[in-house]
Amino acid sequence: MKKKNGMFGKFGGKYIPETLMPVINDLEDKYFQIRDDKNFQKELNKLLIEYAGRPTPIYYAKNLTTKIGGAKIYLKREDLLHGGAHKINNTLGQALLAKKMNKTRIIAETGAGQHGVATSMACSILALKSEIYMGHNDGIRQKINLLKMKLLGSEVHLVNSGSKTLKDAINEAIRDWIKNVKNTYYLIGSAVGPHPYPTMVRDFQSVIGKEIRSQMYKKNKKYPDIAIACVGGGSNAIGTFHPLLDTNTELIGVEAGGCGLDTDNHAATLTMGSQGILHGMMTYVLQNKDGQIKDTHSISAGLDYPGVGPEHAYLMNKKFAKYKTVSDTEAFNAFLLLSKTEGIMPALESAHAIAYAIKIAGNMKKSESIVITISGRGDKDIEIIKTKLNNVKNNK
Ligand SMILES: *Cc1c(COP(=O)(O)O)cnc(C)c1O
Repeated sequence: MKKKNGMFGKFGGKYIPETLMPVINDLEDKYFQIRDDKNFQKELNKLLIEYAGRPTPIYYAKNLTTKIGGAKIYLKREDLLHGGAHKINNTLGQALLAKKMNKTRIIAETGAGQHGVATSMACSILALKSEIYMGHNDGIRQKINLLKMKLLGSEVHLVNSGSKTLKDAINEAIRDWIKNVKNTYYLIGSAVGPHPYPTMVRDFQSVIGKEIRSQMYKKNKKYPDIAIACVGGGSNAIGTFHPLLDTNTELIGVEAGGCGLDTDNHAATLTMGSQGILHGMMTYVLQNKDGQIKDTHSISAGLDYPGVGPEHAYLMNKKFAKYKTVSDTEAFNAFLLLSKTEGIMPALESAHAIAYAIKIAGNMKKSESIVITISGRGDKDIEIIKTKLNNVKNNK
């Protein structure tokens, strides 16, 4: 199935400057040539199994299920992958593609640093030169990830323009790409950007949903009643949803409600945003009435993004998936609960999905099932948890 225009209904497309058009068209051609190539699939599969640690288990969270008292809750354990999150599924796929395209140099943008680390790993194993753009302020906030990227062999460029955060890092990466397109591949970290990126990243992350589909069927002789995943740019969620679209599983994406939807401090793009263009795609965007992108907030850095992958905008409009929000505090409480009941510390991003599952599981039948994609592990968030615990204590 070659869907070449890159539109999901009215969303997606290639809203890019003329100078980038030949580069993007070339990438599109190469990707659709290589994607179904047997050798490419074989090589990628080997990396996913032997290096990244696939398949990840589906785990029946019995203690949590008993505590909530309703539908059976299952966890898809992407937190057990190498690097501690789903991001390696995508970086291995794109880095291998770059190699097949005879590119020798990879560039990437990173906000909190998770994608930068996953890119560095993939480039090390595939012997590609890797340079990561990161906002100066993000580099200060995420010192550990900055160090990890360097240890893993990447050169990190700290960006001092604008607000010195993710969007400035993206601008610099694009500038670099236009200048060095001959030998350079731009590795995007979520299901966002101009076509073919949203489709490509979805394809690489769909390994999550394919495994859920067969693992759940094997366990229960039916597909899950509900699948839940958190939505930042939307890659772990679309990877979870896409292979389940032809089943009767209800699909629910959970966005960052931050301090509340009645404040400006959230990142609930699909719930509160409107149609607009961002980073080369038509999608939902958090913008003011003049089209200026709003500042966003979430307790979890990975959900803190003012846009969303175009396929999610399409799934929402067509009512193929639902999108809900969970606040910082609800996510924090879900983190504590899963840690205590199951001995699993989830990433604060994933804790959003858990929090929503907890809200609805009690009203469901015991014969029903929910799968939650645990997109990553929570070790990276310990400092934030510690601060929040202290605040809670001081307010008592
Ligand atoms: C980056 C990240 C996310 C958000 O990205 P998506 O593209 O929306 O999946 C979620 N969870 C973890 C652990 C992450 O590192």
